[in-house]
Parts: sequence; C-alpha cells; structure tokens
Amino acid sequence: MFSKSNLPMRCRKFESRFEDYLGGALDPELDAHLTECEDCHAAVHDSRLAGDLLRAAWEPASEPSHAFLAKVMATIRREEVRASSPAAFWAPLEFLASRLSLTAAMLLLALSAYVVGFAPSRSTPAPAVRTELSAGDFPQPPGDPVSNEEVLQSLAEMNYGTD
Ligand SMILES: [Zn+2]
Repeated sequence: MFSKSNLPMRCRKFESRFEDYLGGALDPELDAHLTECEDCHAAVHDSRLAGDLLRAAWEPASEPSHAFLAKVMATIRREEVRASSPAAFWAPLEFLASRLSLTAAMLLLALSAYVVGFAPSRSTPAPAVRTELSAGDFPQPPGDPVSNEEVLQSLAEMNYGTD
C-alpha cells in the first residue's frame, strides 16, 4: 500500500525489510540506516510498539486469563465431543420422551382420580334391586354398571338361597 508509506524515496527499499527485522532477522544494513535515519527509526519503533501491543492483547500473560482461557477451551472441546457423539442426537428426544411420559403419568393420575371419585355413584344400583349390601362393599369387576348390577343381583339371589 502506497498511502501507508510516508518514508522518503531512499528509505523505500528498507521498508519491506522492517517486518523481518522486527521478527528478529539480522539486517546490518538496515541497522546502520536506522542509526542515521530518523524517519525509519521512528517507523520501526512504532511498528515494534504496535506489535507489542497486539501481542499483549492477543496473548494475555496474566494467570487468571490463562486459567479462564483454558476453561473456555475445555468447555468448547467438551461441547464438541458431546455434539459429535451419537448419544447427543438422542438427548433432545430423550428429554421429549421424559416430558411425554411425565404428562402421561399425570394424565393417568388424573384419570384414576376421576375413576375413584365417580365410580361409586356411577355403579350405584337402581333402588329396586338395592339390599343391605351395597355394590361398593365388594371388589368391583372391571366393566359397566350393568355388569355390576348383575353381580349384585346374583349376590342377592345367593342370600335368598341360603335363607
Ligand atoms: Zn530511512
């Protein structure tokens, strides 16, 4: 870039060597030139300062920052391992399934509460076949109220038979 360079024409040939020089390369010719050229000396000094600042910002030397960086990198690696493992694919589905089974369990609980709450009144037999034995005193076979009435009726018949 031309606009970057404010150096006189005689210094242009050294300008391209600044980077290597700052990188540690030995350049006796440039060394000699820097001692006698204020412009190049300032340019190299500025570049070195900028490079130092950049390195300082890029590689924090303080201990907490290193620990923080290590922690961040460890987290990133862990996430990468997790994401690349086959189990990671199923994790959201497992979560969904656990949510669904929880919902199903709640639904079952609500349903059983409904059944327990409403079953006795639903299976109450008609007054005509009512005896001193209530249908609720016996284990209820799974079925509709009609079969409950039949059970009650057969129980009543047994009572009459033994009397
Ligand atoms: Zn110069």
